[in-house]
Amino acid sequence: MTDRAAAPENASAAAPAAASPAASPAAPVTVVGLGLMGRALAGAFLRAGHPTTVWNRTSSKAAALVAEGARLAPSIGAALDASPLTILCLTDYDAVRELLGADDLKLDGTTLVNLTSGDSAQARATARWAGRRGARYLDGAVMAVPPAIGTAEAVVLHSGPRADFDAHSPTLEALGTVTHLGEDHGLASLYDVAGLAMMWSVLNAWLQGTAMLRKAGVDAATYAPFARQIAAGVADWLPGYAEQIDAGSFPAEVSALETDARAMEHLIGESEALGVNAELPKLFKAMADRAIAAGHGGEQYPVLIEEFGRPGAD
Ligand code: NAP
Repeated sequence: MTDRAAAPENASAAAPAAASPAASPAAPVTVVGLGLMGRALAGAFLRAGHPTTVWNRTSSKAAALVAEGARLAPSIGAALDASPLTILCLTDYDAVRELLGADDLKLDGTTLVNLTSGDSAQARATARWAGRRGARYLDGAVMAVPPAIGTAEAVVLHSGPRADFDAHSPTLEALGTVTHLGEDHGLASLYDVAGLAMMWSVLNAWLQGTAMLRKAGVDAATYAPFARQIAAGVADWLPGYAEQIDAGSFPAEVSALETDARAMEHLIGESEALGVNAELPKLFKAMADRAIAAGHGGEQYPVLIEEFGRPGAD
């Protein structure tokens, strides 16, 4: 990872972009793909005053946007020609390549920002493919639901050439909190899936506790504020634990892994006694046991990064 990747920069903290038509606050923009997310993206550009051209395979989905002032392009080629910047938001990368793959489609000189979800290999391959077609290319990931688009709550990640991000960030900022992660086109997808790991881990942990408490007649709403406090408290540990990982040194300043492993036994035992699913705590324990067997029992929890850093047993 580059330094840039380690410390993503919010566009608002970035150096001002060079003056150019594309950097104008009201620069024209095209949105291709008007599903739930694409319609929200186009709507945010319109509300921010950008002349917005839209195109969708099923053109009827453009009706509400056209009523709000969007221009519906008659073809994908016309959509690309209408603006120096085109946002792509389709189901997957195959759809992007299929749609833009026609030989007669002119991509030369345009800038594509692909906010379609996928993995880092797809992002890098699509960047190479777009480069061969003469397009400038940023990959991106939307870490938000459609109603949040256009508010600061919507985090939109970008990776690829910094100069291209700088040229268009005044336009992209209409979408929410936009960030450039680094030059490697794969970074936005990697951050995206890393965020999914966080989201599902927190939700699964909460569901585990909720399932246990419900056996004692405690409803989910009663437990939720307590669970939220625990999750926020654990989140506060991350910067210190990250320092241990980056230093490769895991002194047990608060608790040793073998102490955590004993607590995991309580969680497994209680889950089984209550008749709730114990698969998740058993997974925690299996990883901790392997690290302890490898001699790390006296070190602190983030030493488990070594378990996470290699393929596990399927
Ligand atoms: P969606 O409502 O299912 O829309 C999919 C879009 O892709 C539609 O515009 C569809 O066109 C188009 N499409 C699919 N295959 C195509 C093809 N072969 N050629 C041309 N167009 C094609 O999905 P969405 O919720 O907007 O999601 C779009 C992307 O945003 C996905 O990658 C998703 O993971 C990502 N995302 C979504 C959310 C969310 O909360 N919705 C959040 C973060 C990221 P038609 O209308 O003609 O079918």
